[in-house]
Amino acid sequence: MKFNTALLHKNYESDPLTGATVTPIYQSSAFSHESPEKLEKIFNNKAPGFAYSRISNPTVDSFERRIASLESGIGAVACSSGMAAVTMSLLNILKTGDEIIAGSGLFGGTIDLFGDLKAFGIKANFVKRVCNDEIEPFITEKTKAIFAELIGNPALDIVDIERVSELAHKHKIPLIIDSTTATPCLIHPIDYGADIVVHSTSKYINGGGNAISGIIIDSGNFMWDENRYEFIGEYKKYGKFAYLAKLRNGIWRNIGCCLSPVNAFLNTIGLETMGLRMERLCDNALQLAEYLDTFEDIDVNYPMMKKSPYYPLAQKLFKGKGGAILTIRAGSKERAFRLMNNLKLPLIATNIGDVRTLVIHPASTIYAHSSEEQKINAEVYNDTIRISIGIEDIEDLKEDFRQAIEKLREEN
Ligand SMILES: *Cc1c(COP(=O)(O)O)cnc(C)c1O
Repeated sequence: MKFNTALLHKNYESDPLTGATVTPIYQSSAFSHESPEKLEKIFNNKAPGFAYSRISNPTVDSFERRIASLESGIGAVACSSGMAAVTMSLLNILKTGDEIIAGSGLFGGTIDLFGDLKAFGIKANFVKRVCNDEIEPFITEKTKAIFAELIGNPALDIVDIERVSELAHKHKIPLIIDSTTATPCLIHPIDYGADIVVHSTSKYINGGGNAISGIIIDSGNFMWDENRYEFIGEYKKYGKFAYLAKLRNGIWRNIGCCLSPVNAFLNTIGLETMGLRMERLCDNALQLAEYLDTFEDIDVNYPMMKKSPYYPLAQKLFKGKGGAILTIRAGSKERAFRLMNNLKLPLIATNIGDVRTLVIHPASTIYAHSSEEQKINAEVYNDTIRISIGIEDIEDLKEDFRQAIEKLREEN
């Protein structure tokens, strides 16, 4: 099945009860059963079925199964937010004294989270670029995960996932990839060696900016070594499903960061048109990047522009697509703000993956609490504007940016 067909048909089922073509919103906290024997079986994973929506729910289950198959995983667990997915993907395997290695250009929320984990005795070692030369010196017996974003947001650096996964596996460490900005449309990270994939499904999978949510997908490929990951003992009987079984029966359900049925429904609706949206978004992003590059006083960063150092990797990994985020530098914070004020169509908002074009000044918002060094590592400068492209007609976007930049010059 090709991608757009898979979005509609892979693991798709009309509602078994009614034939409804869209999986209905099962907005119920609990599910009743004909006997205590049946509920006992469901509780002990001895029979399929639903008991309580914090643990599983038919609408959420359908969303999970569709994303898992789309990403070539063996299963998925949906979460209340992308941050919950990132947190749970790690806490499922980490304990006090463990370390992780991560890119310093991560999403701001994830950087903040790694700061919070210090209180639990978990240390993150940051590398400026997620590449083997920089990762290897940090690898010790304590290293229990390598965490990276495939396309850094907003640095837009790209990880050579095949090489990094080779190194990780050589040291028996799982590679966890946040693939939010790359989306299943550009790449299936599991095919390139990722062990666990997380998405903030609030972004391109939902696609309409109407629900916060996240998901964790397990490849089932990682060999959890009992000596390094003690938890595995108890879950060994689940074979390649050990990680997912631990997650579902352990920290994920006990912390209670489940996805609501309504949000799962909204995501499923969005999912089905992701292919069409991403085609348009990537096309718009490239066209706007090339257009803005013709202005002398604007510096553009987009991986699919030939001048980007990541152009060859983007070509190789993403089938010629570059994603839907670009950044520009306007010369100063003051000029960046004025440019944003001059724009008529883009909304000034902290989100990506909406149908509308959004702009933000990361240094004064998402990175407001970061150190100067953290900002530089994430390529967040005082004059950086992040553009999350929308599906508007590109002529209108070009025209809007043209008038905004020209007005900026007149004001000087
Ligand atoms: C938005 C985002 C997150 C966090 O997701 P939420 O749904 O906002 O909690 C994590 N990683 C990346 C790359 C993101 O863009």
